[in-house]
Amino acid sequence: MTDKISSLPPVSTMMRECDMIAKKKFGQNFLFDLNLTCRIARAVPNIDTIPVIEVGPGPGGLTRALLLAGAHKVIAVEMDKTTEPILSQIIDAADGRLTVVFGDALKTDFSKFGFDEYAICSNLPYNVGTELLIQWIHKIANGEPIKSLTLMFQREVADRIVARPGSNAYGRVSVLVNLVADAKILFNVPRTAFTPAPKVTSAVVQIIPNTEKIKALGKIESVEKITAKLFGMRRKMIRGIMPDVDWNVFDLSGTERAENLTPEKFCEIAKKLLP
Ligand code: SAM
Repeated sequence: MTDKISSLPPVSTMMRECDMIAKKKFGQNFLFDLNLTCRIARAVPNIDTIPVIEVGPGPGGLTRALLLAGAHKVIAVEMDKTTEPILSQIIDAADGRLTVVFGDALKTDFSKFGFDEYAICSNLPYNVGTELLIQWIHKIANGEPIKSLTLMFQREVADRIVARPGSNAYGRVSVLVNLVADAKILFNVPRTAFTPAPKVTSAVVQIIPNTEKIKALGKIESVEKITAKLFGMRRKMIRGIMPDVDWNVFDLSGTERAENLTPEKFCEIAKKLLP
């Protein structure tokens, strides 16, 4: 079943044949190394049973790896229409396992694909990566059946996703992700692995939604508001930012800064102040 995929010409050859070049406005940094893309695809849990939604297939390097890893269904959402001649060759080789939808992933409601559960895998466009992640975290908090996210980010963003209280990288994204899921960095990817090469190192992050955490969360919109407010002035003491709050109620003195509060504490504060 994967023979036809393996027999396709290399991604770089297909790009040349179709006169496709990387476009900065779409955040395009492509992966051509099959060992690397296969390593990412193999990290997607239960790939052979759970459908995968890939954001930004581009010329299809990672898409091919997902299919080679045994994905039984891949839906790829791509904004750049010029990838069509290449992606249609992969569709032909995939024997019904690949569907490509052209459009903006930020405006695409994944629930319309009708899956009972699904995984997300992407070498994310760096310009909208964090925005997409925050959107998915909101969806997970509100019951969307996303089982796993296997995502490439710039290393700095990856560090923020997994950061713990007290570190410089700890912020709004760390809190929101941690309140609905368990996240870890799987491995680094050097800048030279991409074409064109970005300025910085990247990393693959795995995020697994956690039902116990989701149940305990309350309203994510409230947590979002509180984190935005307190991290908006992260160097300031919380009593200086929200002087009307009785911080003793939360076993806090008010002299703490946002970076000292655990995700659970943000959750407690949000539940009480914005029920
Ligand atoms: N998956 C390919 C790879 O690994 O070689 C391409 C990854 S490239 C970093 C990001 C891809 O996302 C590009 O193909 C780009 O056109 C696409 N893209 C950018 N913004 C998008 C959006 N808002 N919705 C869907 N695709 C988008």
